[in-house]
This record gives sequence, structure tokens and C-alpha cells, in this order.
Amino acid sequence: MRTTGRVSIVGAGPGDPEFITVKALKRIQEADVILYDRLVNEELLSYAPPEAIRIYCGKAPGEHAVPQEGINKLLIRYGLQGKRVVRLKGGDPFVFGRGGEEVLALAAYGIPHEVIPGITSAIGSAASAGIPLTHRGVAASFACVTGSRCHGDGTPVRWDLLAHSVDTLVIYMGVKQIPFIREQLLLHGKPGATPVAFIEQGTTHLQRSFLCTVEDMQEVAAQVKLGNPALIVVGEVAHIPEQVAALQSAASMRIG
Ligand code: SAH
Repeated sequence: MRTTGRVSIVGAGPGDPEFITVKALKRIQEADVILYDRLVNEELLSYAPPEAIRIYCGKAPGEHAVPQEGINKLLIRYGLQGKRVVRLKGGDPFVFGRGGEEVLALAAYGIPHEVIPGITSAIGSAASAGIPLTHRGVAASFACVTGSRCHGDGTPVRWDLLAHSVDTLVIYMGVKQIPFIREQLLLHGKPGATPVAFIEQGTTHLQRSFLCTVEDMQEVAAQVKLGNPALIVVGEVAHIPEQVAALQSAASMRIG
């Protein structure tokens, strides 16, 4: 039996279980232990061997099923036992996924580990909502930002700089903070007419998306009862799905 195992910190992708990498799937198929998060599509667990230990580590916003320290301890314990451990996380493990903290904890015990990236929800959800995050002549940059103020661990979001220097903002964990986000954007000079898209449950069969503006984003979120998980995309690119739909229907009228 091996004295040390390998812990794979794996991105499961944004929701649709088919958006997982081949490498990630192989690790799941060979796993002895899988520790998985709330946003992971549970269908992916069906690829694991039946005898694999499955541990739910999910956290709904504001609550912690297994605290991060507990997850680190489990990873270390199974790693030291020589198990093949898969730490399965929604989206990408290094994008608001605390994957870095887990890697640091494993490294402190000298446990072999690897990180397998996943499609982060910004990329996955934007694609399935038809929003290119960059678009020639419209947006030359995008930034992924947390909207959660409880992320306030010494890395505050610089709304003042972001409002001016980035063309497309993709805001994670922002649903509960929409009034604050709106206020910050307006305060720092983002025009009220700037388009905003909400994408809820992106890439899944439950996906809903809405187009509004910075000005009315709070009102619209309340109207549609925007729920988690959702992303907020701020920028002119949010208009592109409308343009695509208009061209598509004009073309089908010409052809049909
Ligand atoms: N590591 C993940 C992000 C975890 S933070 C990733 O790379 O995607 C959790 C936040 O991600 C949620 O609050 C939401 O803003 C976003 N998110 C995750 N899955 C999503 C989905 N299917 N649709 C829309 N947003 C999603």
C-alpha cells in the first residue's frame, strides 16, 4: 500500500455535467474518496466506483456544511492514507473556489497533489447565455469579481477602479448584494444605461437569463426573484444575444 496518496483538486465545470474535462472524469473513475461541493452536478458522482467514499462538503450561501478547516483535515487524512482523493468543486477550483487554501494545506504535509481546471461559471454561463465576454469593438477586457462583502478578508473589491478600467464585469456571489453593487457602480461613474445580464443556473436545464441596466438592476432582480447560483454581467456585451436573436429571426423569415 502506498504511504502517500494523491489528492486531485478538480474543477467539475459550471453545471452541465458534460462540461467536465476528460482528465477530471478519469480521476473520478479511479477515486477512492470524493469530497464534493454543493454546486457540483451530482450526476458526475455516478462515474465513481460504487465503493468510493462520497463526502458532501456543500455550503449554501452563508452556511458551512463542513467548515474549510474540516475539509482540509479530511484531505490530509485521506492523502496520508495513500488514497486517491478527488476534491470536486463547482466551476474552476482556483476561481473563488478556495482551491489555493487546500493546496497550501496539502503542501504543508508534503502530500502529492494536482489541480485539474474546470470551466468557470463566468465562461460557461456567458457561453450558454450567448454573451461573448470580449467582442471586437465592444469589449477588450473582462474581470471576474466577487460581489460578496463577506469575502472581506483583506482583499476588498476596487469598484472605483473596475467601473472605469474593465469593459465587462462578471460578478460572482452577487445576488444578495445587488443594491450595494448598483450603488458602487453608479457612485464610480458607470452610466445607469449600461446593460446588465443576470444568468441564473447557467448551463443547466433550469437556466434563466434576464437583460436590464445598472439603473434598474435591483428592481428587475426583485421582480424575477433572482436566486442562487447566478452571475451578474455588466457591460455592452450583454446586448449581443438580442442582436443574434434579431439576425436569426430575420434570416429564418427570409429563408422560411
Ligand atoms: N469555483 C466556482 C465559483 C464558486 S463561487 C466557479 O469557478 O464557477 C459561487 C458562485 O459562482 C455563485 O454565487 C455564482 O455567482 C457562481 N456560479 C456557480 N455556478 C453557477 C451557475 N451554474 N450559474 C450561474 N452562476 C454560477
